[in-house]
Amino acid sequence: PGGAEAEALQHADVAALLPVPGAASDKYRRGVVGVAAGSARYPGAAVLAVAGALRGGAGAVRYVGPAGPAVLARFPETLVSAGGPSAAGRVQAWVAGPGAGDDSAAVAQVLGTDVPVLLDADGLRLADPDAVRARTAPTLMTPHAGEAAALLGVAREEVEAARLAWVRELAARYGATVLLKGSTTLVAGPDGGPVRVNPTGTPWLATAGSGDVLSGLAGSLLAAGLSALDAGSVAAYLHGLAGRFAAQGAPVGAYDVAEALPGVWRDVR
Ligand code: AMP
Ligand code: MG
Repeated sequence: PGGAEAEALQHADVAALLPVPGAASDKYRRGVVGVAAGSARYPGAAVLAVAGALRGGAGAVRYVGPAGPAVLARFPETLVSAGGPSAAGRVQAWVAGPGAGDDSAAVAQVLGTDVPVLLDADGLRLADPDAVRARTAPTLMTPHAGEAAALLGVAREEVEAARLAWVRELAARYGATVLLKGSTTLVAGPDGGPVRVNPTGTPWLATAGSGDVLSGLAGSLLAAGLSALDAGSVAAYLHGLAGRFAAQGAPVGAYDVAEALPGVWRDVR
Protein backbone atom coordinates (compact mmCIF):
# COMPACT_ATOMS: atom_id res chain seq x y z
CA PRO A 1 0.00 0.00 0.00
CA GLY A 2 1.26 3.47 -0.88
CA GLY A 3 1.56 6.27 1.64
CA ALA A 4 -1.60 8.03 0.49
CA GLU A 5 -3.76 4.97 1.10
CA ALA A 6 -3.28 4.95 4.86
CA GLU A 7 -2.55 7.62 7.44
CA ALA A 8 -1.69 7.25 11.12
CA LEU A 9 -3.93 9.07 13.58
CA GLN A 10 -2.23 12.08 15.12
CA HIS A 11 -2.61 13.12 18.75
CA ALA A 12 -3.33 16.75 17.78
CA ASP A 13 -6.15 15.73 15.43
CA VAL A 14 -7.77 13.63 18.13
CA ALA A 15 -7.42 16.43 20.70
CA ALA A 16 -9.09 18.89 18.32
CA LEU A 17 -12.03 16.53 17.76
CA LEU A 18 -12.81 15.77 21.44
CA PRO A 19 -16.35 17.06 22.09
CA VAL A 20 -15.73 19.16 25.20
CA PRO A 21 -19.00 20.85 26.30
CA GLY A 22 -19.12 24.63 26.22
CA ALA A 23 -20.43 26.67 29.16
CA ALA A 24 -23.93 26.89 27.66
CA SER A 25 -24.13 23.23 26.64
CA ASP A 26 -26.81 20.83 27.84
CA LYS A 27 -27.24 17.07 27.83
CA TYR A 28 -28.97 17.05 24.44
CA ARG A 29 -26.23 19.06 22.84
CA ARG A 30 -23.66 16.70 24.35
CA GLY A 31 -25.58 13.86 22.72
CA VAL A 32 -28.07 11.17 23.67
CA VAL A 33 -26.91 7.66 22.80
CA GLY A 34 -29.37 4.82 22.34
CA VAL A 35 -27.99 1.39 23.22
CA ALA A 36 -29.76 -1.75 21.90
CA ALA A 37 -27.48 -4.44 23.25
CA GLY A 38 -27.29 -7.32 25.72
CA SER A 39 -29.52 -10.33 26.18
CA ALA A 40 -30.59 -12.64 28.98
CA ARG A 41 -27.51 -14.67 28.10
CA TYR A 42 -25.09 -11.73 27.82
CA PRO A 43 -26.37 -8.89 30.02
CA GLY A 44 -22.80 -7.72 30.66
CA ALA A 45 -22.37 -6.59 27.05
CA ALA A 46 -25.10 -4.02 27.65
CA VAL A 47 -23.41 -2.76 30.81
CA LEU A 48 -20.07 -2.40 29.01
CA ALA A 49 -21.55 -0.60 25.99
CA VAL A 50 -23.38 1.81 28.33
CA ALA A 51 -20.14 2.31 30.29
CA GLY A 52 -18.29 3.18 27.08
CA ALA A 53 -20.99 5.67 26.10
CA LEU A 54 -21.18 7.39 29.50
CA ARG A 55 -17.41 7.59 29.94
CA GLY A 56 -17.12 8.66 26.31
CA GLY A 57 -18.96 11.88 27.04
CA ALA A 58 -22.62 11.21 26.23
CA GLY A 59 -25.09 13.65 27.79
CA ALA A 60 -27.46 10.73 28.38
CA VAL A 61 -27.77 7.07 27.49
CA ARG A 62 -31.08 5.39 26.67
CA TYR A 63 -31.08 1.62 26.97
CA VAL A 64 -33.55 -0.74 25.30
CA GLY A 65 -33.35 -4.51 25.76
CA PRO A 66 -33.59 -7.27 28.34
CA ALA A 67 -30.59 -6.23 30.47
CA GLY A 68 -32.15 -3.11 32.03
CA PRO A 69 -31.75 -4.29 35.66
CA ALA A 70 -28.07 -5.11 35.16
CA VAL A 71 -27.47 -1.77 33.47
CA LEU A 72 -29.26 0.19 36.22
CA ALA A 73 -27.42 -1.68 38.97
CA ARG A 74 -24.14 -0.28 37.67
CA PHE A 75 -25.33 2.98 36.07
CA PRO A 76 -28.46 4.43 37.73
CA GLU A 77 -28.22 7.43 35.41
CA THR A 78 -29.25 5.29 32.41
CA LEU A 79 -32.69 5.97 30.90
CA VAL A 80 -34.14 2.49 30.50
CA SER A 81 -37.10 2.19 28.11
CA ALA A 82 -39.51 -0.70 27.71
CA GLY A 83 -40.19 -1.81 24.13
CA GLY A 84 -37.89 -1.67 21.14
CA PRO A 85 -35.78 1.14 19.70
CA SER A 86 -38.67 2.65 17.76
CA ALA A 87 -40.62 3.14 21.02
CA ALA A 88 -37.69 4.89 22.76
CA GLY A 89 -37.51 8.67 22.97
CA ARG A 90 -35.31 10.74 20.73
CA VAL A 91 -31.67 9.68 20.49
CA GLN A 92 -28.88 11.22 18.41
CA ALA A 93 -27.04 7.97 17.64
CA TRP A 94 -27.74 4.26 18.13
CA VAL A 95 -25.38 1.46 19.14
CA ALA A 96 -26.79 -1.92 18.16
CA GLY A 97 -25.54 -5.42 18.60
CA PRO A 98 -23.09 -6.19 21.42
CA GLY A 99 -24.31 -9.38 23.12
CA ALA A 100 -27.69 -8.88 21.48
CA GLY A 101 -28.35 -12.49 20.47
CA ASP A 102 -30.99 -12.82 17.77
CA ASP A 103 -33.03 -9.65 18.15
CA SER A 104 -33.17 -8.83 14.45
CA ALA A 105 -36.25 -6.62 14.93
CA ALA A 106 -34.25 -4.22 17.12
CA VAL A 107 -31.49 -4.02 14.52
CA ALA A 108 -34.00 -3.38 11.72
CA GLN A 109 -35.69 -0.63 13.75
CA VAL A 110 -32.39 1.07 14.45
CA LEU A 111 -31.39 0.92 10.77
CA GLY A 112 -34.72 2.51 9.89
CA THR A 113 -33.94 5.69 11.86
CA ASP A 114 -32.46 8.85 10.39
CA VAL A 115 -29.65 9.14 12.96
CA PRO A 116 -26.13 7.64 12.89
CA VAL A 117 -25.96 3.95 13.76
CA LEU A 118 -23.08 1.85 15.04
CA LEU A 119 -23.33 -1.89 14.30
CA ASP A 120 -21.17 -4.32 16.24
CA ALA A 121 -21.08 -8.06 16.99
CA ASP A 122 -24.55 -9.64 16.54
CA GLY A 123 -25.75 -6.39 14.99
CA LEU A 124 -23.35 -6.93 12.09
CA ARG A 125 -24.70 -10.43 11.51
CA LEU A 126 -28.36 -9.44 11.81
CA ALA A 127 -28.24 -6.30 9.66
CA ASP A 128 -29.79 -6.52 6.20
CA PRO A 129 -27.09 -5.17 3.82
CA ASP A 130 -29.74 -3.47 1.67
CA ALA A 131 -31.11 -1.68 4.75
CA VAL A 132 -27.60 -0.44 5.55
CA ARG A 133 -27.04 0.75 1.97
CA ALA A 134 -30.42 2.51 1.96
CA ARG A 135 -29.63 4.62 5.03
CA THR A 136 -29.42 8.39 4.70
CA ALA A 137 -27.54 8.91 8.00
CA PRO A 138 -24.03 7.47 8.56
CA THR A 139 -23.46 3.85 9.57
CA LEU A 140 -20.31 2.77 11.41
CA MET A 141 -19.57 -0.96 11.47
CA THR A 142 -17.00 -2.30 13.96
CA PRO A 143 -16.08 -5.91 13.09
CA HIS A 144 -13.01 -7.83 14.20
CA ALA A 145 -11.37 -9.92 11.45
CA GLY A 146 -13.64 -12.93 12.03
CA GLU A 147 -16.79 -10.83 11.81
CA ALA A 148 -15.48 -9.02 8.73
CA ALA A 149 -14.68 -12.34 7.07
CA ALA A 150 -18.21 -13.62 7.72
CA LEU A 151 -19.70 -10.49 6.14
CA LEU A 152 -17.36 -10.73 3.14
CA GLY A 153 -17.81 -14.47 2.66
CA VAL A 154 -14.07 -15.18 2.84
CA ALA A 155 -11.81 -16.96 5.34
CA ARG A 156 -10.55 -15.06 8.37
CA GLU A 157 -6.96 -15.71 7.26
CA GLU A 158 -7.67 -13.94 3.97
CA VAL A 159 -8.82 -10.83 5.82
CA GLU A 160 -5.81 -10.96 8.15
CA ALA A 161 -3.46 -11.21 5.14
CA ALA A 162 -4.76 -8.02 3.47
CA ARG A 163 -6.55 -5.98 6.12
CA LEU A 164 -6.22 -2.64 4.33
CA ALA A 165 -7.76 -3.95 1.11
CA TRP A 166 -10.59 -5.79 2.88
CA VAL A 167 -11.62 -2.93 5.14
CA ARG A 168 -11.99 -0.75 2.05
CA GLU A 169 -13.91 -3.47 0.24
CA LEU A 170 -16.33 -3.93 3.15
CA ALA A 171 -16.91 -0.18 3.40
CA ALA A 172 -17.61 0.04 -0.33
CA ARG A 173 -19.97 -2.95 -0.31
CA TYR A 174 -22.09 -1.61 2.55
CA GLY A 175 -21.78 2.09 1.77
CA ALA A 176 -20.72 2.45 5.40
CA THR A 177 -17.69 3.43 7.45
CA VAL A 178 -15.89 0.33 8.70
CA LEU A 179 -13.61 0.10 11.72
CA LEU A 180 -11.66 -3.18 11.51
CA LYS A 181 -10.47 -4.16 14.99
CA GLY A 182 -7.28 -6.02 15.76
CA SER A 183 -3.70 -5.43 16.83
CA THR A 184 -3.84 -2.32 14.67
CA THR A 185 -7.28 -0.87 14.07
CA LEU A 186 -8.13 0.51 10.62
CA VAL A 187 -10.99 2.89 9.80
CA ALA A 188 -12.22 3.23 6.21
CA GLY A 189 -14.93 5.48 4.82
CA PRO A 190 -17.35 4.34 2.10
CA ASP A 191 -16.01 6.65 -0.61
CA GLY A 192 -12.37 5.59 -0.73
CA GLY A 193 -9.92 8.10 0.70
CA PRO A 194 -7.07 7.31 3.06
CA VAL A 195 -7.66 4.63 5.68
CA ARG A 196 -6.96 5.81 9.22
CA VAL A 197 -4.59 3.64 11.24
CA ASN A 198 -4.73 3.72 15.02
CA PRO A 199 -1.33 3.45 16.73
CA THR A 200 -2.42 3.38 20.40
CA GLY A 201 -3.63 -0.20 20.89
CA THR A 202 -2.22 -2.69 23.36
CA PRO A 203 -2.61 -6.48 23.43
CA TRP A 204 -4.03 -6.11 26.95
CA LEU A 205 -7.20 -5.00 25.14
CA ALA A 206 -7.59 -8.56 23.85
CA THR A 207 -10.02 -9.36 26.66
CA ALA A 208 -13.72 -10.22 26.73
CA GLY A 209 -15.99 -7.20 26.49
CA SER A 210 -13.35 -4.76 25.35
CA GLY A 211 -15.05 -4.36 21.96
CA ASP A 212 -18.37 -3.62 23.70
CA VAL A 213 -16.75 -0.64 25.47
CA LEU A 214 -15.40 0.60 22.14
CA SER A 215 -18.87 0.46 20.57
CA GLY A 216 -20.42 2.60 23.32
CA LEU A 217 -17.51 5.04 23.16
CA ALA A 218 -17.80 5.45 19.39
CA GLY A 219 -21.58 5.80 19.76
CA SER A 220 -21.12 8.71 22.15
CA LEU A 221 -18.88 10.46 19.62
CA LEU A 222 -21.44 9.92 16.84
CA ALA A 223 -24.13 11.39 19.12
CA ALA A 224 -21.91 14.40 19.76
CA GLY A 225 -21.90 15.07 16.02
CA LEU A 226 -18.58 13.67 14.80
CA SER A 227 -18.58 12.07 11.35
CA ALA A 228 -18.45 8.28 11.28
CA LEU A 229 -14.81 8.38 10.16
CA ASP A 230 -13.84 10.77 12.96
CA ALA A 231 -15.95 8.99 15.59
CA GLY A 232 -14.40 5.64 14.75
CA SER A 233 -10.87 7.05 14.62
CA VAL A 234 -11.13 9.01 17.87
CA ALA A 235 -12.80 6.08 19.64
CA ALA A 236 -10.05 3.67 18.58
CA TYR A 237 -7.39 6.13 19.71
CA LEU A 238 -8.95 6.78 23.14
CA HIS A 239 -9.79 3.09 23.66
CA GLY A 240 -6.18 2.09 22.97
CA LEU A 241 -4.88 4.66 25.45
CA ALA A 242 -7.49 3.61 28.02
CA GLY A 243 -6.27 0.03 27.66
CA ARG A 244 -2.71 1.18 28.34
CA PHE A 245 -3.71 3.39 31.28
CA ALA A 246 -5.85 0.69 32.85
CA ALA A 247 -3.42 -2.14 32.28
CA GLN A 248 -0.09 -0.48 33.14
CA GLY A 249 1.56 -3.61 31.77
CA ALA A 250 -0.62 -6.07 33.71
CA PRO A 251 -3.92 -7.88 33.01
CA VAL A 252 -7.06 -5.77 32.96
CA GLY A 253 -10.80 -6.26 32.42
CA ALA A 254 -13.06 -4.46 29.97
CA TYR A 255 -14.91 -2.55 32.69
CA ASP A 256 -11.59 -1.11 33.90
CA VAL A 257 -10.89 0.08 30.35
CA ALA A 258 -14.14 2.08 30.36
CA GLU A 259 -13.35 3.52 33.79
CA ALA A 260 -9.94 4.66 32.51
CA LEU A 261 -11.50 6.81 29.78
CA PRO A 262 -11.90 10.02 31.84
CA GLY A 263 -8.18 9.94 32.66
CA VAL A 264 -7.38 9.54 28.97
CA TRP A 265 -9.56 12.55 28.16
CA ARG A 266 -7.66 14.70 30.66
CA ASP A 267 -4.42 13.56 29.13
CA VAL A 268 -5.36 14.07 25.48
CA ARG A 269 -7.07 17.48 25.87
P1 AMP B 1 -13.63 -7.58 20.32
O1 AMP B 1 -12.92 -8.45 19.33
O2 AMP B 1 -14.94 -7.11 19.86
O3 AMP B 1 -13.68 -8.20 21.69
O4 AMP B 1 -12.74 -6.27 20.51
C1 AMP B 1 -11.43 -6.41 20.98
C2 AMP B 1 -10.78 -5.05 21.12
O5 AMP B 1 -9.44 -5.24 21.55
C3 AMP B 1 -10.69 -4.27 19.82
O6 AMP B 1 -10.75 -2.89 20.10
C4 AMP B 1 -9.30 -4.66 19.29
O7 AMP B 1 -8.76 -3.71 18.42
C5 AMP B 1 -8.52 -4.76 20.57
N1 AMP B 1 -7.43 -5.71 20.44
C6 AMP B 1 -7.53 -7.05 20.34
N2 AMP B 1 -6.32 -7.62 20.21
C7 AMP B 1 -5.42 -6.61 20.22
C8 AMP B 1 -3.98 -6.56 20.09
N3 AMP B 1 -3.25 -7.66 19.95
N4 AMP B 1 -3.41 -5.33 20.13
C9 AMP B 1 -4.15 -4.21 20.27
N5 AMP B 1 -5.51 -4.22 20.40
C10 AMP B 1 -6.13 -5.40 20.37
MG1 MG C 1 -16.83 -7.98 19.96
